[in-house]
Amino acid sequence: MDELLRQAEAAHGHLCAGQILGVRMALLGLGRLGIVDPRGAERKRLITYVEIDRCATDAIGLVTGCRLGKRALKFRDWGKMAATFVDLASDRALRVVAIENSRDLADRRYPHLETKSLRQMQAYRELADGDLFREEWVRVAIDSADLPGASRERAICEQCGEGVNFGRVARVKGQVLCLSCAHPELRYWEPATPEE
Ligand SMILES: [Zn+2]
Ligand SMILES: [Zn+2]
Repeated sequence: MDELLRQAEAAHGHLCAGQILGVRMALLGLGRLGIVDPRGAERKRLITYVEIDRCATDAIGLVTGCRLGKRALKFRDWGKMAATFVDLASDRALRVVAIENSRDLADRRYPHLETKSLRQMQAYRELADGDLFREEWVRVAIDSADLPGASRERAICEQCGEGVNFGRVARVKGQVLCLSCAHPELRYWEPATPEE
């Protein structure tokens, strides 16, 4: 735990309550799935879904070895301190959620500590898993196009000409389009200088 926290601190830039919470969440998930060496011999067993992009997410990525660039870390932007650990070897998945009132528990348990952050850090180090997390076994149907590995499919959008991997295209009126051209209303960007 301490060694993981040191690594998490180095990777994330600072030690914070979120790092400790993330390390604990990941260790809980790995433990329940019986995965002991996620960054070595068992590195292809695990896919992790995270539901928030905060401090804890970095720690979860570090401990599990699941990274965006390996397609093993999946981000669902739901704003929840939750993660699901999917074991491809056993086809089991555990979703872990940080319990809302663990913050109050931290305040009550460690009133002598000066700041909220210190109280939380202490709580996240010491409280039992059951006081910090709710866990449930779930099923995650992972589409073959979402699995780690290189893209087998590559297409060129017939509208913008940009290359698209992993079959992320849509057929619109007989044309193969990237998702940005097929659904412009879902774009996160727009041209800086509107065309006349
Ligand atoms: Zn942080
Ligand atoms: Zn396009």
